[in-house]
Amino acid sequence: MGNKLDCRIVQDLLPNYIEGLTSEVTNKTLEEHLSSCAECKAVLHNMTNEMKEMNRAPQKQINFLKKIKRRQWIIAACSVVVAVTLFASVFYFISQRQFAIPSSEVKISEVYQMKDGSVHYRIDANVTGYLSNVFLRNDGDSEVIRVYEHRRLFSDQDRNKVSIPERWVPLKDKEITSIIYEGNGKKDRVIIWEKGMVLPKADAEQEAEYERSSGKQR
Ligand SMILES: [Zn+2]
Repeated sequence: MGNKLDCRIVQDLLPNYIEGLTSEVTNKTLEEHLSSCAECKAVLHNMTNEMKEMNRAPQKQINFLKKIKRRQWIIAACSVVVAVTLFASVFYFISQRQFAIPSSEVKISEVYQMKDGSVHYRIDANVTGYLSNVFLRNDGDSEVIRVYEHRRLFSDQDRNKVSIPERWVPLKDKEITSIIYEGNGKKDRVIIWEKGMVLPKADAEQEAEYERSSGKQR
C-alpha cells in the first residue's frame, strides 16, 4: 500500500467517493488505503472542503434568486390585485352613475281615479342613457316617485322617451294626501295629485285594465 499508482487511482476515485457514487467494495478498498496514506487523506480532506464550498456557493445564489423571485411574485401579485380593484371600481363607478331625471324631462299623463279611489298615473321620461331605477318612497303622507337614469360616459346625449310602467296608488290602505314626482332634489317637485284635486273618473276600459293589472299582481 501507499505506492504511487494506488494513490493516483485512489485520488481519481475520491470525487465519486465523496459524492457517494462508488460501490461498497470500492469504498472498503479506498477506506483501507486512506487509513494508512496521509497524502490521500489530505487530498480527501481538501476535496471534501472544496466540494462543500462549491455546494454552498450556488445554494447561496439560489436562495438569493429565490428571494428575488419571491419578491417579484409578491410585486406581481400586488400589481394584479391593485389593477383588478382599480378596474372594478372604475367599472362600478361608471355603471352606477345614476342620476335622478329632472321634472322638466318627465311627462306625467293619464291621471285619473278608479272606482275604488286609487289614483292612476303614467310617466314618460326623456332618458339620456337608459332607465335604471324607479324609486318610490313615503315622505310623511306623500308618495314620492323618483326615476333614475344611467348616463354613458361617452354618450352623444341623445334622449329617448321611456315609458315607466303605469301605477295605481291605493289611497284607502295608506293615509296618502299627495303623490309627487321628485326630480333633482326637493325643490324640483311636481304634484301629480293632492287631496282635494278633482280627477277624471276612469272609463270602463281603464277599469278593466286596472282589474287585469291587479289580478296579475295578486
Ligand atoms: Zn495514497
